[in-house]
Amino acid sequence: MIPYKTEPLTDFSKEENRQAYREAIQKVQQELGKDYPLIIGGEKIVTEDKITSYNPAKKTEVVGTVSKATQELAEKAMQVADETFKTWSKVDPAVRADILFKVAEITKRRRHEMSAMMTLEAGKPWVEADADTAEAIDFFEYYARQMLELKDGKPVLSRPGEFNKFDYRPLGVGVVISPWNFPFAIMAGTTVAAVVTGNTVLLKPASTTPVIAYKFMEILEEAGLPAGVVNYVPGSGAEVGDYLVDHPRTRFVSFTGSRDVGLRINQRASVLNEGQIWIKRVIAEMGGKDTILVDKEADLELAAQAIVKSAFGFSGQKCSACSRAVIVEDVYDQVVERVTELTKELTIGDPTDGDNFMATVIDAAAYKKITSYFDVAKEEGRIAVGGTADDSVGYFVHPTVVVDVAPTARLMQEEIFGPIVAIAKAKDFEEGLAIANNTEYGLTGAVISTNREHIERAREDFFVGNLYINRGCTGAIVGYQPFGGYNMSGTCSKAGGPDFLTLHMQSKSVSEAF
Ligand code: NAP
Repeated sequence: MIPYKTEPLTDFSKEENRQAYREAIQKVQQELGKDYPLIIGGEKIVTEDKITSYNPAKKTEVVGTVSKATQELAEKAMQVADETFKTWSKVDPAVRADILFKVAEITKRRRHEMSAMMTLEAGKPWVEADADTAEAIDFFEYYARQMLELKDGKPVLSRPGEFNKFDYRPLGVGVVISPWNFPFAIMAGTTVAAVVTGNTVLLKPASTTPVIAYKFMEILEEAGLPAGVVNYVPGSGAEVGDYLVDHPRTRFVSFTGSRDVGLRINQRASVLNEGQIWIKRVIAEMGGKDTILVDKEADLELAAQAIVKSAFGFSGQKCSACSRAVIVEDVYDQVVERVTELTKELTIGDPTDGDNFMATVIDAAAYKKITSYFDVAKEEGRIAVGGTADDSVGYFVHPTVVVDVAPTARLMQEEIFGPIVAIAKAKDFEEGLAIANNTEYGLTGAVISTNREHIERAREDFFVGNLYINRGCTGAIVGYQPFGGYNMSGTCSKAGGPDFLTLHMQSKSVSEAF
């Protein structure tokens, strides 16, 4: 077996790669406006009621329409998944892993096409879309190998006259509910984690990005995944989501999205419904309010670069995005000035143009929410750059830096999920660390410092699931930096890590006396 290694990113400085990406965009553009069915037990079902997926950079351009699951169809999908579990759960884990290896190969073949679809459907600039597809490939490759490691269980002791075994069994039907911001990697990663461990899945993708999820279904089918193992049921979160979460045959929910929806799912999943004979398991990866803390002894250029890249990559729409920077007062002015300069240099425009660093936010609702913070910014600090937006063609929000913000201000506490970074001053590293820890979230954080004592202090007491030292706070890599947060950032399930698959299984101890 070739050892796992992360999938390299595409080098867009090479003209042949740029050309290949442009061709992929053209291919996907030819498919614009197509209608996509639901897939239940391999059957393609077309409904009257549709979800329309729009291009956020050209707000009237329809990427595709997708049939919308009703509660009746969700029920049908549940029955199929429940039935399929009886056979899929008995398939040799090595065979299940092989399917993931094939999914990885097919994705590599269709790599630019998948990325280009995200460029159009989610407004992802080339580099960001390419990283999303690479991460999806990493999930397939990594979880397949993880399953091979776990398939025979873990060693336990035996005694004379007693033979003991400890191994893992699948749980049942899982409901996978995914967000739009990593519309391929997270959607596919959470799905295959459930599948390779022997469960069957009802996949409800985000309503803003259902088409990329359909393309993933095509790949699963081509890789030979039996019908009914993954059932594609896009639909309204409130209608289909609640129904599936409440369903007595749902064994677990794997959710990635906002804090409020995560809490709602957690609460509803705790209710015992008629006919239910288990406690539902909830994996919930939720929001963030992530801080980069800059010490006075630090590489200040690195600090400014890290803040700008982490705050504005994919327009700040990453759960790991730097939405707050805390800078020790001795170097505050210098870092703020450089952050301001670098932000002014950022390019923003249509994501199909490979040279734009930033593009749009996802939709009208996000645009409205994010731009509503401009007034808050004026009250709570000073806008050093940005504070402007334009939705005449697409949902473009310009990168915005707000300085001199108090640690408890709304801008420093609420997840805005857009290209706005709030900057606060701390008197020293200790105070900076306290500010960094003063939110209800705990997803990612970074420390820029050359002071070993401070680095070690942060390693211990910066209360986040993913801490980075002397680099930005985004860009966790599968198998290298398992990802998931503390407190209101979720259940710290650590996607892309060695513990993730076990969350989708239950262990069994068998002790035979002889
Ligand atoms: P969201 O609004 O919470 O939606 C996430 C998913 O939940 C969507 O598929 C949505 O469906 C569905 N949903 C909505 N209401 C539901 C309900 N009542 N029951 C069941 N499902 C329901 O989040 P988002 O805007 O897509 O994503 C952004 C958020 O995700 C941010 O807060 C970000 O920090 C977080 N995030 C966290 C991580 C992490 O690993 N911690 C990673 C990525 C994103 P509809 O689209 O149909 O509403």
